[in-house]
Amino acid sequence: MKQQSTVAAISTPLGVGGIGIIRISGPDALTVAARVFRPVGARRLEDAPGYTALLGRVFDAAGEIDDAIATVFRAPRSYTGEDVAELSCHGGLYLLRRTLRAVLAAGAQPAGPGEFTKRAFLNGKLGLTQAEAVMDLIAAQGDQAARSALSARDGALFARIRAVNGGLLELAAHLSAWVDYPDDEIPEITGEEIGAALRRARDGLAGLLSTYDLGRVIREGVETAIVGRPNVGKSTLMNLLAGYQRSIVTDIPGTTRDVVEDTVNLDGAILRLADTAGLRDTDDEVESVGVALARRRLETAGLVLAVFDSSDPLTGEDRALIESLRGRPAVAVINKTDLPRRIDLAWVSERIPHTVQVSAKAGQGMRELSAAVNEVLGLHRLDGGAALLANERQRLCAQRAAAAVDEAISTLDDSFTFDAVGVCIDEAIAALLELTGERASEAVVNEVFARFCVGK
Ligand code: GDP
Ligand code: ZN
Repeated sequence: MKQQSTVAAISTPLGVGGIGIIRISGPDALTVAARVFRPVGARRLEDAPGYTALLGRVFDAAGEIDDAIATVFRAPRSYTGEDVAELSCHGGLYLLRRTLRAVLAAGAQPAGPGEFTKRAFLNGKLGLTQAEAVMDLIAAQGDQAARSALSARDGALFARIRAVNGGLLELAAHLSAWVDYPDDEIPEITGEEIGAALRRARDGLAGLLSTYDLGRVIREGVETAIVGRPNVGKSTLMNLLAGYQRSIVTDIPGTTRDVVEDTVNLDGAILRLADTAGLRDTDDEVESVGVALARRRLETAGLVLAVFDSSDPLTGEDRALIESLRGRPAVAVINKTDLPRRIDLAWVSERIPHTVQVSAKAGQGMRELSAAVNEVLGLHRLDGGAALLANERQRLCAQRAAAAVDEAISTLDDSFTFDAVGVCIDEAIAALLELTGERASEAVVNEVFARFCVGK
């Protein structure tokens, strides 16, 4: 590990809070901290063993700034793996900035974005995918997202990538031994065995890549369009989902004219809902703009909640909507089931496999709706510890590895030499090592941490 400077930053959010923390990390962290911090007791900060908290005060040249608690961590037992001192002050912005200035004047450099986590990575405290998971954890909006980030931080993704790469490394070792010492008594590896190992790697990578979309759903949410004829209960459903009144509910068809948006969490599925104008042909100019918006929304949505009125027979528009949703991620929501039924339910459910009956007004059927949504999105396959590709960088690396494995397979099928197969395998391995950060260039590492905020 190369000699690092000592850096410092405010690690808590900028704003007024109960406490705010200045984190100092690096070889001189404790000496720097001791220059601004005077303990109340006899124990000196520089001499304190790791995991000690000292009560005292922070000072700058102008005098006392604040009461503070200094927490001491000794390398390598700290977040960064270096000596770390954390000064917990009162959380006012003025106090924190003044304390940080004092710390910088005492010899620390300002920390760059994500610098603490980057140092932790460089010191082998956590892998690249785990470092990225720390960031995802901070950004997580929903329970599922937090759980999957947590399991990535604990190494689930790393382990899954390792499992694929382990097979490839073994194969590469075999091949290079065979290429380098073809006449020796190295157990011969057959083309069939190579092919089988490559296909295992390909399946592993395909499985990994398929987790990406799922990951996006739980992190960012899925664009969801609530569509249907006017007056079937779209706005009522939206309000029920959102848990509060957002859209205008009226008996007059065509009152929802623009697109009302809201984000709701449905048992882990984050839906970015859009309640749209009722789909119908209209002569009203304002309404027709709304209908056009609704249609566009419908075309691009990642999930469609198609609402129908159970107390009405299906209209031509209903049927056209249903036909247009075939093969798309959609749930048919048969609403107003508190009223006598006149809809042809079978006709709907034959065409849209996920059909649920609800009464938005009475708040009934939401559990079934939530289950159907989770199933359509594939989230029911997720358990808490699932390893998901979390970002574009990870996806691109996995894709490069998959392409290289595919090429290895076709090179083998075309019976080129094992050398040529080996070259492709090496390429796949390189992509996976970059994915985990075990062998990532400085540029890649810098880019990952540049996305962090200062103080993390
Ligand atoms: P939208 O035009 O599709 O957005 O429909 P709204 O949500 O504005 O609802 C139209 C009318 O249907 C309102 O009078 C609602 O109170 C009523 N409505 C909505 N859901 C239900 C339901 O589950 N049962 C009954 N009986 N009426 C409902
Ligand atoms: Zn409406």
